[in-house]
Order: sequence, then structure tokens, then C-alpha cells
Amino acid sequence: MYMDKETQAYFKEVLIKRLDELYAEAERTVAGMTDAEETFPDPTDRATLESDRNFMLRIRDRERKLILKIREALQRIDDGSFGICESCGDEIGRERLEARPVTTLCIECKRKQEAGERARGA
Ligand SMILES: [Zn+2]
Repeated sequence: MYMDKETQAYFKEVLIKRLDELYAEAERTVAGMTDAEETFPDPTDRATLESDRNFMLRIRDRERKLILKIREALQRIDDGSFGICESCGDEIGRERLEARPVTTLCIECKRKQEAGERARGA
């Protein structure tokens, strides 16, 4: 076992807390948009707003991506692959996970990926 239950529980808590914050933030965004559209009251639209899919469509792109990443990270904690680099299979360092718990790459693979991106961009 690469990561003990205590560490997994710790990161799960960190991720859930971040998810809660994002949902609260996104809800404010959606609420703001709803207020702006109050000249077109449509009870059907309002009802479907409650659904997760519509909610996800209405929130900002950055928030949506982060929410999905956090959900994936929580999924990885459940299936035991959290903290393992998806590229080389090595453990991702604790320090890196602390800084960026949604990461799927170890620092070495991340550097290589970024170097590749820069090369393609040039
Ligand atoms: Zn790696």
C-alpha cells in the first residue's frame, strides 16, 4: 500500500472541502445570472436549473473543470490510484499532492509535459 488510510482520509477531506467551496462559488455565479434574467421568468427553466447537468452547464468553465478534476481525484482515492502518476506509475510526492491534490502527474512527468507543450508552441 503506497498511501496509508490516514493520508487518504486527509486528502479526501481536503478535496471535499475544496469541492464545497467551489459549489458555493458556482452557486453564487448561477444565482447572479438568474437575477439578471428575471425579465424572462420561466418556471420550467427554473426547475431544471436544480439539476446537476444544467448547473454544470451554467457555471464558469474554470469552475466546471476544477469540479470535474476534484471528482476524479475523489474517485481515484476510492479506487486506490490516488497519488500514483498516470504517466510513469511512480508515487507523486506528498509535497506535490499537498500543493495540488488534483494532480495526476509526478513532478518529473509534469516537467516533461510542460517542456513538450513549450516545444509544440514554439
Ligand atoms: Zn511520473
